[in-house]
Amino acid sequence: MRIEFDSSILYDSVRDIEDFPKPGVTFKDITPLLGDPAAFSSAVDAIVISFGRGTIDKVVGIEARGFIIAAPVAYHFGAGFVPLRKAGKLPAATVEESYELEYDTATLEVHSDGLAPGDRVLIVDDVLATGGTARAACNLVERARATVAGLAFVIELEFLKGARKIDGYDFRSLLKY
Ligand code: AMP
Repeated sequence: MRIEFDSSILYDSVRDIEDFPKPGVTFKDITPLLGDPAAFSSAVDAIVISFGRGTIDKVVGIEARGFIIAAPVAYHFGAGFVPLRKAGKLPAATVEESYELEYDTATLEVHSDGLAPGDRVLIVDDVLATGGTARAACNLVERARATVAGLAFVIELEFLKGARKIDGYDFRSLLKY
């Protein structure tokens, strides 16, 4: 589902970096968006308005760019912020979930006490690509017996069909390519 708002300011502030981090990949660089006060606040506001205050207890941000969007979204909801990090970064006891990358596997972790049963959780990241990261995030939330209220992305790369991995969840993206 696309969030309805004037997206031109956001499209204009996303920069394509060819062959980063490896040949053949077009990296969607959101640092110009983050550095533009109007674009940054528009992105955060669009996500908050789309889900609505009072609907979310915790916002899960995915390391690292997801943190930057998720934290102000949580603040506006009056919700808690919970970091979902790469293996070995969180200091206390964790629950982990591994998932397939193109030629490798990756692991995401959340603190065991970061989410409570029944929490209504919004998962936030900068880019939905193949969907493996988003799916692992959903699995971690559900293993804590919390509820995935939805997922929000600044960018969805539709040609990578990540939506299939989170079929059935209420996910929304600000920009589609
Ligand atoms: P995936 O698990 O394939 O959906 O990948 C999503 C994660 O990788 C997100 O946390 C993104 O930050 C990052 N990512 C994947 N592809 C890109 C891209 N083309 N540009 C920027 N970030 C990307």
